[in-house]
Amino acid sequence: MKTCCSFCKKSSDIVGVMVTGPDGRICDECVAQALQIIQIQREHNIINETKPVNLLTPAETKAYLDEYVIGQEEAKKALSIAVYSHYKRLMQPTNEADDVVIEKSNILLVGETGTGKTYLARTLAQLLEVPFCIVDATILTEAGYVGEDVESIITRLLHAANYDVAAAERGIVYIDEVDKIARKGDNPSITRDVSGEGVQQSLLKLLEGSIVNAPPQGGRKHPDQKLTAVNTENILFICGGAFDGIARIVGNRINFKSIGFYAAGKSKSIKVEEKDLLKYVSSADIKAYGLIPELVGRLPIIRGLEPLTQTNMRRILTEPKNALVKQYVKLFEMDGIALTFTEETLDFIAEQAISLKLGARGLRSICESIMSEAMYTAPSSKNKEKLVIDKAYALAQLSRVRIGLANQEKEAKTDDAIKALSNS
Ligand code: ADP
Repeated sequence: MKTCCSFCKKSSDIVGVMVTGPDGRICDECVAQALQIIQIQREHNIINETKPVNLLTPAETKAYLDEYVIGQEEAKKALSIAVYSHYKRLMQPTNEADDVVIEKSNILLVGETGTGKTYLARTLAQLLEVPFCIVDATILTEAGYVGEDVESIITRLLHAANYDVAAAERGIVYIDEVDKIARKGDNPSITRDVSGEGVQQSLLKLLEGSIVNAPPQGGRKHPDQKLTAVNTENILFICGGAFDGIARIVGNRINFKSIGFYAAGKSKSIKVEEKDLLKYVSSADIKAYGLIPELVGRLPIIRGLEPLTQTNMRRILTEPKNALVKQYVKLFEMDGIALTFTEETLDFIAEQAISLKLGARGLRSICESIMSEAMYTAPSSKNKEKLVIDKAYALAQLSRVRIGLANQEKEAKTDDAIKALSNS
């Protein structure tokens, strides 16, 4: 039986191949034509999709970060300026006669765990609407060793950009735990330091800007694999790490006296509290900690994040746009229950989070422990319209699950938390 192409109406005896679907047919000529249209459309879309970055002034960027991140003023300012310069650099016309080259401003954030390093980078990427990925430096090893190659960072960014190379080339990468790839001591060891200095060397080229051939599906490169070339020149790298013990190095550098630390001022020395030492962290300290000078040189902006105070913890609970308390209120609202926390409870949670020593991350585990029972029972309870979480309830819930809490956060100093609980 003769059939016709649903598009050009040519009959099956004059076309080469006819593809039949449930409701129609298409001939090989129409398929070829359709393919051409798709290709042209794709190219056109790619050009349109690399939309200009949402360029905001540093003050506007900081105002946005303020809505989410509490405290960390210096880090927020530094990030806002760096992003502004970075994207101005991208917009600079490539004019060979102009020999003023704006250099890349990769950033290093130094601060205890849970103080907002990753959160800052993530919030920034969200604002800029650029692809963003987080990589843990501890999984990286020198090429050829067990672990992941440094190129896998770019694979992740490609993935975040839906494999749009042009978009990935202007993305942001957050490399966490860079302090863990610090050189292990000054003595050359008999075994190669494949996850420390070796990784630092491999990271150099990436941070500086080069063409990286990334395996699109990740994993190890192998000879027959098709690689995607990505230029890292315009990718902004933000590195972060806790750099445990670096405060000592800073203290020694800025002149330690038995009565405290002093930072040299123009006219007189300023007394620095030990907890504030991170504010003064510099490239010299990072080098002394074990990052190779070449890598430190590619991270020109270094900022220390302040440890979170109880007041800041309290603010983190309620103030940010997606604050934890707001999230719980919304969850209960969906069940028709008006949830409130008393002021005393909020202070209590902040106090417990400080004793956990997990930074703001501790807030979530504490809130989960306090709220889990209510979250279980409230949806099935009839005629419940209001739920007030007061300190007595919070304390009872936390005491009930504190064994579990201690197991979960083995590394944290839960003893302090438990002591604080029994004293309250
Ligand atoms: P780290 O410094 O270890 O990278 P994160 O940025 O991952 O810590 O912080 C963990 C969580 O704690 C974040 O997802 C965020 O919800 C919260 N958080 C941490 N610091 C702050 C802050 N300064 N302001 C608001 N929330 C914060």
